Amino acid sequence: MSTYAFKTEVSQLLELITHSLYSHKEIFLRELVSNASDAIDKLRYLSISDDAYKAISFEPKISVYVDDKARTIVVSDNGVGMSEEELAENLGTIARSGTKSFLEKLSDSDRKNSNLIGQFGVGFYSVFMIADKVEVISRKAGTDKAFCWSSTGKGEFSIDTSVREGFGTDVKIHVNGEGEEYLSRWSLDGLLRKYSNHIAYPIHLISQEPKYDDKGKEKGREFKDEQINAASALWRRPKNELQDKDYIDFYKSFAAEDEGPLFWIHTKAEGTIEYNSLFYIPSKVPGDIYYPLAQQGVKLYIKRVFITDKETNILPQYFRFVRGVIDSDDLPLNVSREILQQNRVMTTIQQASLKKIFSELESMAKNNPEKFAKFTALFNTQIKEGLASDWQNQKTLLGLVRYKSTGAEGWTSLEEYKNRAGDRKTIYYITGNSEERLRASPLLEAFAAKGLEVLIGSDEIDELVFASLGQYEGMSFKSVNHSDADEGLGKDTAAGTADEEAGKKATEAAKRILGERVKDVRLSKRLSKSPSCVVMDKDDPTLQYRELMMRISNTEMPEPTPILELNPGHALVKKLADLESRRGAAEPQDEGLAQDAEDIAHILLDQALLAEGQKFVKPADFIQRLNRQLAKA
Ligand code: ADP
Repeated sequence: MSTYAFKTEVSQLLELITHSLYSHKEIFLRELVSNASDAIDKLRYLSISDDAYKAISFEPKISVYVDDKARTIVVSDNGVGMSEEELAENLGTIARSGTKSFLEKLSDSDRKNSNLIGQFGVGFYSVFMIADKVEVISRKAGTDKAFCWSSTGKGEFSIDTSVREGFGTDVKIHVNGEGEEYLSRWSLDGLLRKYSNHIAYPIHLISQEPKYDDKGKEKGREFKDEQINAASALWRRPKNELQDKDYIDFYKSFAAEDEGPLFWIHTKAEGTIEYNSLFYIPSKVPGDIYYPLAQQGVKLYIKRVFITDKETNILPQYFRFVRGVIDSDDLPLNVSREILQQNRVMTTIQQASLKKIFSELESMAKNNPEKFAKFTALFNTQIKEGLASDWQNQKTLLGLVRYKSTGAEGWTSLEEYKNRAGDRKTIYYITGNSEERLRASPLLEAFAAKGLEVLIGSDEIDELVFASLGQYEGMSFKSVNHSDADEGLGKDTAAGTADEEAGKKATEAAKRILGERVKDVRLSKRLSKSPSCVVMDKDDPTLQYRELMMRISNTEMPEPTPILELNPGHALVKKLADLESRRGAAEPQDEGLAQDAEDIAHILLDQALLAEGQKFVKPADFIQRLNRQLAKA
């Protein structure tokens, strides 16, 4: 017998599982059955694709045995099994590299969310919620040796030789007090129907049920073995035979979700290439959506045999939230996974599937805007990702993307923007990290006054996407955060009407005082209420872009030098002008005056940066200047 220590991340995970997830104990069965089903998938695939396994013929079957007297539950499969090394590797580490760092980042409330367990490939360990001890007896297909992995879930596990008739795996759970309720046939039956009804292989529930005499006394036991599920590939069944409930139940067991999907698309393609596909759009954002290597949710089957859900990017990466199945008879079963990526039939199926999902979304946008708004609230960011990465489908994606806007309540499409814009050939947008703050930005004042609609890009990705868009139906995109966006504003704004002379003086003063902190100071056409705002020169990156880049590359970038715009009608700017004239004339030596001018100029810049959500280098300076001026007022 050999004893091993769990890898640190497994110990952390076990800790997490046993302490935070007690309210979701029952998922252990779903996870074990799903592993059993995966193991059968793997063996079926090997038996048709790999010469070494071709001789194996087997009837796939999953069995769940419960013994209330011995207090054990055994989940058994005749799948691929595990060798000694595989037992140590698979049940002693967490395979997926992102899982560890992800676990560390989880917030407390996330940790209570059982769905994360299935998604991050840590399903097996959930069994320790209800076990004092777990034994995994496994014999790998094609070998004649069996091994037993055993652990109490505390720090270490051991592996010993064992015996098992035939290949496959038994997971034997020694149930603890927390798992009491699962030691009955009745409760396991309910759980299997709830979570595993749509597993494509037969699941048998096996137990010894007590028999009672007339007086209600137990008089021996009766062997009971019943198949619980229909074990059919739901996606191959004709649509008219299926109820909504069937689709929803299948989704819950397939995607390991507690809630039903937002909607689904079931297609049977007939013609030159035949295939069945069933796609689900979830009703909430999957926990791993921001994880860059998130696994695709679409599984590929060929002739009902599971082939892969890895390697082949069946749908583009931005649709990684889609769950579902593609199953075709027209692909060769023994095709290697690499070749699949260049296979013509596969490409056709992929393109048709993507088109199908697009057209479903398009028609929903048109005919069921309420539902589409729900989709937008969940996955608009991924549509934007598509805009930034999938040029081929840009036109379609432009039709599906939605924005918040100063011109309408709720979501706005680009088409609606265009219709409201009349003859204008410019789509204005503003970017930053909070919708609320953007709506209050001084940059929008004159646009609001002139009734020019501005799209609000408060998603981090907006900065990149807008910059890469170019054109929409003959209209060009222009960032309000840039200096040249005011070209469309005309002359009759604050700058045009206020005292030209005072404006000039204030501008000169600010330029002299702020020096290198600004690229330029000018009078603004876009301000009507606020004293100042900052914009970037038209070829410089915006402040938001700079922040995004710093975050992505994790490096500091030089301080940005914005253009400061002043509102000559504002009292604070007038005061700066006044100080500047007095400095030039009667009281050149007055240090108090110079200090005031300096304070005001810096305050004008700092408050404009603040309004853009920027952190400035020396907040203490800002506060000091502000306090000094307030005390004088
Ligand atoms: P996941 O199934 O998400 O990969 P688990 O922690 O549930 O994560 O299982 C870890 C690994 O252990 C699986 O990927 C698989 O290789 C192996 N495994 C688990 N259960 C079985 C089983 N019944 N038969 C064969 N291999 C299994």
